[in-house]
Amino acid sequence: MEFEVVIGLEVHVQLNTKSKMFCSCPTSFAERQNKNTCPVCLGLPGALPVINKEAVKKAMMFGWAVDATINKKSIFNRKNYFYPDLPKGYQISQFDIPIVENGVLYVDKEDGSKREIGITRAHLEEDAGKNIHEGEISKVDLNRAGTPLLEIVSEPDIRSSEEAVEYLKKLHSIVRYLDISDANMQEGSFRCDANVSIRPKGDEKLYTRVEIKNLNSFRFIQKAIEYEIERHIEAWEDGIYDSEVVQETRLFDTQRGVTKSMRGKEESADYRYFPDPDLPPLIIPDEFFEETKNIPELPDEKEERFIKEYGIKPYEAALIASSKETAKFFEEMMEEGIGAKNAVSWLTVELAARLNELGVDITKSPIDSKTLAKLVKRIEDKTISNKAAKEVLDYLVKNGGDVDEAIEKLGLKQITDTSAIEAIIDEVLAANADKVEQYRSGKDKLFGFFVGQVMKASKGKADPKVVNELLRKRLA
Ligand code: ADP
Ligand code: MG
Ligand code: ZN
Repeated sequence: MEFEVVIGLEVHVQLNTKSKMFCSCPTSFAERQNKNTCPVCLGLPGALPVINKEAVKKAMMFGWAVDATINKKSIFNRKNYFYPDLPKGYQISQFDIPIVENGVLYVDKEDGSKREIGITRAHLEEDAGKNIHEGEISKVDLNRAGTPLLEIVSEPDIRSSEEAVEYLKKLHSIVRYLDISDANMQEGSFRCDANVSIRPKGDEKLYTRVEIKNLNSFRFIQKAIEYEIERHIEAWEDGIYDSEVVQETRLFDTQRGVTKSMRGKEESADYRYFPDPDLPPLIIPDEFFEETKNIPELPDEKEERFIKEYGIKPYEAALIASSKETAKFFEEMMEEGIGAKNAVSWLTVELAARLNELGVDITKSPIDSKTLAKLVKRIEDKTISNKAAKEVLDYLVKNGGDVDEAIEKLGLKQITDTSAIEAIIDEVLAANADKVEQYRSGKDKLFGFFVGQVMKASKGKADPKVVNELLRKRLA
């Protein structure tokens, strides 16, 4: 039997506001546990929450970015459960009327086309604190308690583990472009839960899903989903699907590459959601509603513009546009008036390889956009050869400094002066009179030999194009 994979993702994005969701405590790093707390986020009785306007604005910006409906009236609910890092005994979240609903996100397919994934909703909520386990003792740190989160829930539209990763990468890129989150996966400001099920191909019904929690790297997400799909299919084929695949929450064991049951899946009724009596409905004033529509250019638009404006290939445009910083670097290079094709290859191939070796991303590049553009310029104006430029780049990555000075220092300036090259050619031909004779009597293959000798005599600095032209003339 052929199966279809069904995946829906829930992503928690930590919003990068200065203060918490319902109090004025800072969200910044604190040097001491429980320092960034107050009666509200400590859950002291009688303390009253106040909605963070900036968090609301950021949630709405996300809504606009995915063409969603923004609810001018939304409701905050209490989601009741017990855990030591949740001092109030409930989390303030949104339930039946979230601020953002019915959006769409486009994932890039390998063949350059795009596929639509529905976004069911995006709602505002507060983060919990952290439990710290030290041997026999567990401690609670509430610095993170009350930090604003945007939970973004997709429709079960995703059809493979690769597509799940593509969805997450696009989502990651969008929130970075909007500057609503640092979206740092290692630090937990972009966390994903994956809901996975299978069904016989052609069947429209949704089968039992499992939820895999707290996946914190693209690679683990893909692996966890693949393991889970395999487990479902095997259970089906072994005739034990109904007993083996149950609605539950599972954890991914990164060491062994397997998922393990953590707990039975709670239903929403278990949480006894009800509107928070301390918070009136959130009503967005018209003026504020309009103001939040002002969002920056997003990766899909940027990609399209790059293709049109610079004539680069779709996959190159997608690659560059996927990171806000890389896109900025590229556009700064283009402002220096160099060719787009050269800019793309020196940025995405040559510089990228060197950054990769250093283990840093573009934000930590030892070379800025102006310098890389100048290097490209020196190839374009024939000061140096393409090959020499790689040496100059290595030098600059290591030592920094100016392109022209580096070329001077490394002695890589290309000889384009025809009289200088002619002089070298004369020398080479004189020293190889016998070969010249053979060439003239029909041994065409020797041409390459002469080019090689001239390049060698010039220590690789002669412009090979000029060498070719002049040699042909001389030997004719
Ligand atoms: P909960 O909070 O109970 O996990 P949510 O509504 O927040 O519920 O999230 C449900 C997620 O699971 C959504 O992303 C949805 O697309 C996905 N989902 C629902 N049913 C299935 C299914 N049968 N297979 C895979 N994913 C599913
Ligand atoms: Mg969930
Ligand atoms: Zn507080």
